[in-house]
Amino acid sequence: MNGHSEILIRNIYHLVTMNERNDRLSGVDLLVQGNQIIQIGKDIQAPDAQVIDAATCLVIPGLINTHHHLYQTLQRNIPAVQDVGLFDWLKVLYRVWQYLTPEAVRISTMLGCAELLKTGCTTTIDQHYIFPQGITEDLIGIQVEAARNVGIRFYPTRGSMSRGQSQGGLPPDSVVQNERVILEDCQRVIARHHDPAPFSMTRVAIAPCSPFSVSKELLKQTVRLARQEGVLCHTHLAETKDENRYCLEVYGKRPLALMEEVGWLGEDISLAHGIHLNDEELDLLAGTGTAIAHCPASNMRLGSGVARIPEMLRRGITVGLAVDGSASNDSSDVMGELRICLLVHRLVGGASAMTAPGALSLATRGGAKLLRREEIGSLEVGKAADLAMIDLNRLEYTGSLSDPLAAVIFSGVDHSVAMTMVNGQIVVRDGRLLGVDENELIEEGNRISREMLEKAGI
Ligand SMILES: [Zn+2]
Repeated sequence: MNGHSEILIRNIYHLVTMNERNDRLSGVDLLVQGNQIIQIGKDIQAPDAQVIDAATCLVIPGLINTHHHLYQTLQRNIPAVQDVGLFDWLKVLYRVWQYLTPEAVRISTMLGCAELLKTGCTTTIDQHYIFPQGITEDLIGIQVEAARNVGIRFYPTRGSMSRGQSQGGLPPDSVVQNERVILEDCQRVIARHHDPAPFSMTRVAIAPCSPFSVSKELLKQTVRLARQEGVLCHTHLAETKDENRYCLEVYGKRPLALMEEVGWLGEDISLAHGIHLNDEELDLLAGTGTAIAHCPASNMRLGSGVARIPEMLRRGITVGLAVDGSASNDSSDVMGELRICLLVHRLVGGASAMTAPGALSLATRGGAKLLRREEIGSLEVGKAADLAMIDLNRLEYTGSLSDPLAAVIFSGVDHSVAMTMVNGQIVVRDGRLLGVDENELIEEGNRISREMLEKAGI
């Protein structure tokens, strides 16, 4: 962290504003005061400011990640579920997740957020829906503190599962909770952690897990509570054909029709995935302002399908980009996700189906709109100083400078950024996290991961 109240990023090689005019500027300075951008232009005079030279750098708005399960950072690429689809993947992982401890939540939150920050992400949602029996600690509170320690703008969501196998759901009864307990805890988490103020670093949302792990009644009650409290709602929807089949069998309707019945459509709702949707369903999303959190790597990894993102965008549907949980990605590389997004839609829709600025737009303005957030998603005077700086003077970008924005999406090796600033604070500098012992995180993370797998006998 830094003690300066002003930071001047000087002589930027290429600045991508993502403002309404899509301005891209060269050789400009950007001045930050406190948590805001106060000036963008040539030769800014700020004698007291800390100066950062950006003569070889691309500067972009901080990326916004609209879906994650940070606790899964400790369950990447497990052999038993490397090569199976969502439902079989979940059935094995539920066995591991029942051994989640407060320490595992703290370390995995820090690890996932660290990776996000190091790849240019400044804001993330997290959907936490595992509350093992016998654990009385405030797991969301532990996440809020961990996110604050690494310095990311955070949307913890109080997730939930209430429909266990004995009620016809997919998860075992050992990982589901009573619905009254869930609702009371949602209310507690909002009261305790939600900060609605402008530039706030922590906002809570409510996020029941999926149609196959909660009841209709819980969906109705949670959206009612969220609207009463003025917070957003988030869930998984239309991720797999199995889910569509489940909803037809159990509810007699497709997933989106179920959401319509329980009041889960609107500008305050975002749905992760949204792959298996027909034309009428896309029109319903557009007509109601319901947003989609697009997770291309996870969708490819689990063989779930390809979301119809270009068609959604043509209809005016709000779409954010997301890495999804690390048990199905298996990384929190947001910059890499831009590339995957670009490539997968070209595979389906041809070479013009997704452009580099189009992909970046999902991860900036799209995410900000999904979060209904004015202060983030573009670099403009008066907006939050959330930005990422990538040094293009590297082997992997050599030969790509005819388009410096496209360079970091088409090219690149590890997608790590030189500097990440969140709310005016530098949290990554020279590619390293400030204020966090990375080696300690690696050691702790591997130890806890191993212990959880051993307990689950996997
Ligand atoms: Zn997910």
